[in-house]
Amino acid sequence: MQQHMRESGLARELASIVGEAHCVREPAALQPWLNEPRGIYQGQAGLLVAPGSAEETARVLARCNRRGVGVVPVGGRTGLCGGTHSRPGELLLSLHRQRRVRRIGAGSLTAEAGCALATLQEEAGRVDCVFPLSLGSEGSCQLGGALSTNAGGIHVLRYGMARDLALGLEVALPDGRLLSDLKPLLKDNTGYDVKQLFIGSEGTLGVITAATVKLHPRPKSRVTALLGIASPDQAVSLYRRAEAELGGELNAFELISRRAAELCEERLEEVSVPAALDAPWLLCVELAGAIEDAALTSRLAKFLEQALRSGELLDAVCAASEAQREAIWRLRHGVPEAVRRAGASLHHDLAAPPERIPEFLQAARKLCRRFVPGTEPAPFGHIGDGNLHYSVVCPAGFDPRRFARQGEALSAALRELAWGMEGSFSAEHGVGLLLKDELERLGDPVKLGLMRAVKRALDPQGIMNPGKVVAA
Ligand SMILES: Cc1cc2nc3c(=O)[nH]c(=O)nc-3n(C[C@H](O)[C@H](O)[C@H](O)COP(=O)(O)OP(=O)(O)OC[C@H]3O[C@@H](n4cnc5c(N)ncnc54)[C@H](O)[C@@H]3O)c2cc1C
Repeated sequence: MQQHMRESGLARELASIVGEAHCVREPAALQPWLNEPRGIYQGQAGLLVAPGSAEETARVLARCNRRGVGVVPVGGRTGLCGGTHSRPGELLLSLHRQRRVRRIGAGSLTAEAGCALATLQEEAGRVDCVFPLSLGSEGSCQLGGALSTNAGGIHVLRYGMARDLALGLEVALPDGRLLSDLKPLLKDNTGYDVKQLFIGSEGTLGVITAATVKLHPRPKSRVTALLGIASPDQAVSLYRRAEAELGGELNAFELISRRAAELCEERLEEVSVPAALDAPWLLCVELAGAIEDAALTSRLAKFLEQALRSGELLDAVCAASEAQREAIWRLRHGVPEAVRRAGASLHHDLAAPPERIPEFLQAARKLCRRFVPGTEPAPFGHIGDGNLHYSVVCPAGFDPRRFARQGEALSAALRELAWGMEGSFSAEHGVGLLLKDELERLGDPVKLGLMRAVKRALDPQGIMNPGKVVAA
């Protein structure tokens, strides 16, 4: 009862800032905001507000700070770590009304945090550029969410992660101040690079309300191929050679295990692997460049011919049309959905230095067989970044309750394995709630101490996304 009264008092105050129409309290209207993609968490906030501007966002935070109310920033809700989970009494703050592109110029654009990544890619296209942050969730995930989780995707090897694409940020701070640092500058050595603190902090330090991001010239040509290879060792050696020989034109280099490809063929419509590529591992390789199509295709063909001759490659199929190119990418982007449709499964967003990926895959498969006899893991991911999405599906006939029990131990063992190989248990999805205990267990105590010090300095009341990433 008391909580309800507190909430309605707060709702009245916040409605006076954002307008009554942008405060959501009815349970049915709130429900969709409380779910998350994997269905692991069910949020419990009783109130959502959607400020229409950076200034309104800052004023909402100042009110919550005064009352000691926890604020959970919400973007497109495609994060996979429980980062937008809310507890009773906390406030959800959505950026969906802030989706204006404020400025678009040579080499950069400034946009509000609620813009979907796909919208920014379209905007960039209008000025003959690309905004290269490209993820399976780009239709729904927002600029603010992607920056807050330092998202990666398929073009990291060429353009870097969200952090590398950000030139400036505007951030509403918990005490109600607005940090406005949106200059489109590549060079600015005037002290600490404060914006980088907010990138990857998953809403625990402030709310990103806008950003200036780099645009790159739109490549004139693009060529995509699906390759069949015998082993992950070949994937790594081919990647290193492609890096050296194809250099700046290498746009994507993605590994797909046979099991992951089979799941796509079994569970998705309009996805198939060409019969010629009956190989244990597949690679999806793309080049994009400033030269003509024919010249780029011939560069890739030469590279592939040499790889065939040296035995690094079993076979390859080059896309001869846009439809064939899309079919290759449907296979790669379809893996998470195919795994989801296959029933109970475990997901891990792991990293290791690329040269250690073959050793990691071998040891990881042994762990899977030990904890879940009969399973065949379905890894896939960004081989050039050493980032593997390591999925394990419950085998037919295996007791799902036993799978859940054994799965916890298997997940912990896989994360430890990656960590022990100078890798990471969260390469691009973040920590959120899901991996917070893992960070406490495996993380460097000095780094954790610094993270807590930063949190206390910027958010002394602990209102920003409470309980996520790092314990206060
Ligand atoms: C199908 C699919 C494919 C994916 N592929 C990739 C991939 O290839 N690479 C990759 O890196 N990730 C991938 N992801 C996960 C990825 O982290 C998210 O898609 C994206 O980065 C999150 O954006 P969002 O707007 O949905 O954020 P949300 O899920 O809404 O939020 C994520 C976190 O950021 C915080 N947050 C959100 N907005 C703000 C803001 N404006 N200010 C401060 N904090 C904020 C939230 O509180 C939360 O902690 C994928 C997800 C899906 C579902």
